[in-house]
Amino acid sequence: MQATTLDMTPTDIAVHDDTLRIRWQDGSETSLSVATLRRACRCAFCEKDRREGREPVVADGLRIREIRLVADKAMNPVFSDGHERGIYPWDYVRML
Ligand SMILES: [Zn+2]
Repeated sequence: MQATTLDMTPTDIAVHDDTLRIRWQDGSETSLSVATLRRACRCAFCEKDRREGREPVVADGLRIREIRLVADKAMNPVFSDGHERGIYPWDYVRML
């Protein structure tokens, strides 16, 4: 069944140490490590790295400093390594 956009909206977002937990409107939960999220970054820089055969570098002890919401449709995490250009649409986050 295809989830509607409304179902994709998180009701709760929490970061504990190196784990991001998102609770969704439909009651399900997504738990992701900060490293997984950082590796999955789709910003222009990381996409360029991938095209050139490099994976985003994940520093030891990487954390999320802040999560900005993008018009209820996506999130923009600020990583402790200063990386803050990745936009993660909710449907992409659920796929990770
Ligand atoms: Zn990136």
